[in-house]
Formats: sequence, C-alpha cells, structure tokens
Amino acid sequence: MSSHLKQREGSVKQITSHSNPIVKEIKGLVAQRKHRRESGLFVAEGLKLATDALDAGWKLRYLALGPEARENKIAMEAAAKAKARGTLILEVSTAVLSAITRRDNPQMVVGVYEQQVHTLKAVDPTGAKTWLCLDRIRDPGNLGTIIRTADAVGASGVVLIGDTTDPFSVETVRATMGSLFHMPLVRCTEEEFISFRSKWPGPVVGTHLRGNKDYREADYGEPVLLVMGNEQAGLSDPLADSCSQLVKIPQEGQADSLNLAIATAIMLFEVRRAHLKL
Ligand code: SAM
Repeated sequence: MSSHLKQREGSVKQITSHSNPIVKEIKGLVAQRKHRRESGLFVAEGLKLATDALDAGWKLRYLALGPEARENKIAMEAAAKAKARGTLILEVSTAVLSAITRRDNPQMVVGVYEQQVHTLKAVDPTGAKTWLCLDRIRDPGNLGTIIRTADAVGASGVVLIGDTTDPFSVETVRATMGSLFHMPLVRCTEEEFISFRSKWPGPVVGTHLRGNKDYREADYGEPVLLVMGNEQAGLSDPLADSCSQLVKIPQEGQADSLNLAIATAIMLFEVRRAHLKL
C-alpha cells in the first residue's frame, strides 16, 4: 500500500480474486441497468472522470486502482482525496480491472459513483439560459454525445422526458467524456413536462421535420427550453403541441432527417449564438 494512502482516514482493500463480492458487484453495475437502478450506483472509467467527479463533489463509493495508477501522482492524489471523503479504495490487479470493464486494455482507474438525478423542481427559470429537453432518447452514444455538447455550450442542464436510455450506462458515461459530472440531469414523464412547461416564462422551441419556421429565425429569448424528438418517432404530438414554436433545420439531398445528436448540436450552437447576439 502506498504511504500516500496510509496516512489518511478511511480504508484500502487489496483485491486480486475475480470472485471477490465487490468485483462481482461492480461487474453487475457495468452489465445491467437493473443493478444500477436498484443500487443507485454507476461505473465510470478513467482518471480524468475521477478527478472531474471529485472536483464537482460527486460521491464515490469505490475507487479501483490498477498497478499503473499506484505509480501515478495524479491518481494517488485523487485516491487520497476520495479516501478522505469516505471512499473505499481498491488496489486491484490489471486482470481484475479487465474483468470489471470487459476490456483487454482497461483504464488504470475505475470509479463507482452515486447517481444524481433531479426532478423538475430543480429546473429554476430564474438565471437559467437554456435547458435541453429530450423526448424518449434511446441511443446511449447519442445521449452521451448530447450531454457533452450541452456542457460545451454552457447549457443549464438536460431534461430526460419519458422512457429513455440509462444515462448511467457505461456507454453513455464514456461518450460524455466527463461532462456527465458537470451537467445537471432531470427525469420526468411527458405529463409532468407538459404541466411544468405551462408555467415556463420563456420560449419553448421544439424541433420537428414539419416545423414551420427556419431554426435561424426562431425566438430563443432566455430562459429557453429546447425540445428534441426521439430518434425513430420524432417529437410526440402532445410535446409538439406544447411548444411555442416548431422549427426545422433546412436540408438538401435525400436524407429524411439528421442524426439526433447532430441536430441537437446545431440547435444548441444556434441558441448560444442568439444569446451572445453574434
Ligand atoms: N422519423 C423521425 C421524424 O419523423 O421526426 C426522425 C427523427 S430525427 C432522427 C430525431 C430528432 O432530431 C427529431 O425529432 C428532431 O428533434 C431532430 N431533427 C433531425 N433532423 C432535423 C431537422 N432537419 N430539423 C429539425 N429537427 C431535426
């Protein structure tokens, strides 16, 4: 055990066996949404994500360090910080890291974090700029990419409406590249969103292939709700009806529509452009 860790509060455990109960628990969190839902935990790989999470105040249940991490100054500083906050530090072999992450070349650090999801009560229009609202998003890679883009434009947060893919799946977390720890996430039903939206003081801009307005001509006055549709079905009729404007990104060629993550990026940067009056 490194002396860096020995000096602090909390505990450190060495694990080399794949059948250790904690290893089994982490594997379950990687593999199954059911385990993530029941425990309220999720797994994120990599040192950058661990430092992002610690800086943003997320709670870390376990931090698994491979042999390489135990020789790495930044990893050991992150581990010491986590340990001081009560995280159980796991010193594991590379083989255990591979088994946990199901990768041949695992990252040297793997964290198990407590999930943070809010209700619509957390969406305060005062001081908000842009909340991005996603109708029944299904694709984990799309969701991760969208959370990363929302972070990049300085959006206030992301609202997940209806039955969506799990924002805490390994694939989504990977695609967020750490932005998951910086973007507030809200979950609600379609009915809850429509009721909440009726009291929203600013524009509610829906994106729709049958939108009657060019997206460059819409009103994006702050605070704005930007509503994006499901990958297959687009925006549901009740959600489309609840929007104050329905906009379209003009297309050429034969493609029916744009990929959801691409359309969301175009929209978010247009909203940002409007807010910055560029
Ligand atoms: N078949 C679906 C439909 O009819 O709406 C296509 C859905 S599209 C793949 C997913 C979402 O991306 C849409 O609901 C919309 O929010 C957004 N989107 C894609 N292309 C768009 C465009 N040209 N204009 C506005 N929104 C678009």
